[in-house]
Amino acid sequence: MIRNYSNFRSRYSKFQLILGHLLETVTQKGDEPMDKVIITAAITGSRITRDIAPYIPYTPEEIIQSSIGCWNAGASIVHIHVRDPETGLGTQDLELFRQVVGPLREKTDLVLCLTTSGIAGRNLPIEARLVSLELKPELASFDAGSINLGGGVFSNPPEFLDAAAEMMKKRGVKPEIEIFDSGMITTALRMRDEGKLVEPLHFQFVLGTPWGAPATPKSLLHLYEHIPENSTWSVIGIGKGHLPMSMMGLIMGGHIRVGMEDNIYYKQGVLAKSNAQFVERIVRIAQVYGRDVASPNEARAILGLRKREG
Ligand code: ZN
Repeated sequence: MIRNYSNFRSRYSKFQLILGHLLETVTQKGDEPMDKVIITAAITGSRITRDIAPYIPYTPEEIIQSSIGCWNAGASIVHIHVRDPETGLGTQDLELFRQVVGPLREKTDLVLCLTTSGIAGRNLPIEARLVSLELKPELASFDAGSINLGGGVFSNPPEFLDAAAEMMKKRGVKPEIEIFDSGMITTALRMRDEGKLVEPLHFQFVLGTPWGAPATPKSLLHLYEHIPENSTWSVIGIGKGHLPMSMMGLIMGGHIRVGMEDNIYYKQGVLAKSNAQFVERIVRIAQVYGRDVASPNEARAILGLRKREG
């Protein structure tokens, strides 16, 4: 009973935090400016091909140009997958990652978040998935459990999670813990208790996949209630969940991911022509709302990232 009461208390205090944040916004009485919002652009992913999304970047040069466009529009992080330029399919080819990462480090101060998911459903061997960590990105995706995805299983068994966490720790890469459903938070917290993940944790809620947690305010609040209070978090709304979840992220004090990996329509029936379009829109909305957008270096400070190399 006592334990239940303390759980209730901690949930209640989180609810108060959200309420306080909302009230402060609504009444405009807060003396402190609102925390800055970090915009991540997910440039291409590994699944969506040009037959349905003709403007999606494939080649390293296209990925670089699209990332620079997002940076100019206000994104401070780019989430990077690479594609086999001939087939257009996602790949974990280290050379292709290198061709993207090198020029982006030279030409921009973007925070780079490289994928370790490989090709969801095709389930590459562990070593192949972790190859992107050789480039020591400041952030890398960490999918905290398995889930049905794209007609197959996106497999993230314990041995993969242990290997990924260990290598990220060794290379100074902060895991961006992708949460598709609430059990994945349980997994992440257990790994924290075992010393494999280190606080403060950074979560990315992926809402609205056809097999995971839905892209609804209630769903986001439920997940938010279960992460430690000193965590940072961002939200992705897949497909038609994109804008509603971005709005929720904005008002709840979280961060936001946009881009063609998650959503290819700018609005109903209209394909986005670039990733920058999504960034421009959310920056506009954030400005009107009164939450400033974080620069890459501000994002580094907010997320507690190590100083970038190279
Ligand atoms: Zn991804």
